[in-house]
Amino acid sequence: MHTNNNDGRPEKAASGAGPSACDTCGDSSCSATRQRSGESEQEFRERQKLEQRMCRIRRKIVVLSGKGGVGKSTVAVNLAVALVMAGQKVGLLDVDIHGPSIPTMLGLKFGSGRGVGDELLPIDLDGLKVMSLGLFLPSEDEAVIWRGPMKTALIRQFLKDVAWGDLDFLVVDSPPGTGDEPLSVCQMLGRVDGALIVTTPQRVAAVDVRKSISFCRQLRVPVLGVVENMSGFVCPHCGNITPILCTGGGQRLAEEMKVPFLGSIPMDPKIAESGDHGRAFLSHYADSPTARIMREIIKPLETLADGSDNKTECGKEKDLMREGEGAVE
Ligand code: ADP
Repeated sequence: MHTNNNDGRPEKAASGAGPSACDTCGDSSCSATRQRSGESEQEFRERQKLEQRMCRIRRKIVVLSGKGGVGKSTVAVNLAVALVMAGQKVGLLDVDIHGPSIPTMLGLKFGSGRGVGDELLPIDLDGLKVMSLGLFLPSEDEAVIWRGPMKTALIRQFLKDVAWGDLDFLVVDSPPGTGDEPLSVCQMLGRVDGALIVTTPQRVAAVDVRKSISFCRQLRVPVLGVVENMSGFVCPHCGNITPILCTGGGQRLAEEMKVPFLGSIPMDPKIAESGDHGRAFLSHYADSPTARIMREIIKPLETLADGSDNKTECGKEKDLMREGEGAVE
């Protein structure tokens, strides 16, 4: 039997894999139950596995930045930890393939990654499920010299083969820029609930943020907001915040681009120290003024968990995935 897909391409029910093949949502109109025209049996099985896995994750947030070193991984780690502290089931996926810093920031050993059967096991860190290529590298000095297709294959494997289970949130730490990795991840996740864009206050960062926002718009990923990091310096002696770079760049840009501005995180030596010592800043320095600022910034994202998600939305994920694939080729 052939039906029309949203992108106009015909789909047929797979041989021996009728509408009940996907037992995640049981929705017979879900595209995971249908083999696409031109899709091999194996491609269909792989896509089905990916979509089934993604269907069990209620909310997906991608953390993006235009440049490296602006604090994107720091924000991703602390967002994930804040959500766990708020009682949510959370996964943290590091797709920064050339510079996976999540293991270091969370004190996880390089080379400690494990698999069972055809599944990769995320590390469970006090309720936070973590996956990073770093867990499969012998040391943090190992250089990963890969071209695009290998990176895309790894991202697919991280989404499809990791035993994420049922999650309220998956937070994805994407490498800087608008290249292969953020593109692959946004397409494969299906429906992305939103992107968080991290920047620094300088004007030179603004151009890159504009590109990140335009990337999200092309892929129809809602921008949850812009976070300005390293905005002022918290004196470790008196606790006062001194502006050392120009300030307000993130806010101005957010207003100009008509996206929410979530707030500014100051440069705090305790954040750098936490990252270097493998401790999540938000849980380790929970009572510090900067942790309070961070929690305020993250709070609006926690409310995403309250929205409804039903079978119809699950079906929509597949349609958006097709649209995303078509949008950028
Ligand atoms: P990115 O992911 O954008 O490359 P990271 O999150 O790895 O950036 O941060 C780069 C470095 O800056 C890390 O050592 C991190 O601990 C430090 N850092 C990030 N944000 C802050 C901050 N607000 N105050 C102090 N150090 C910070």
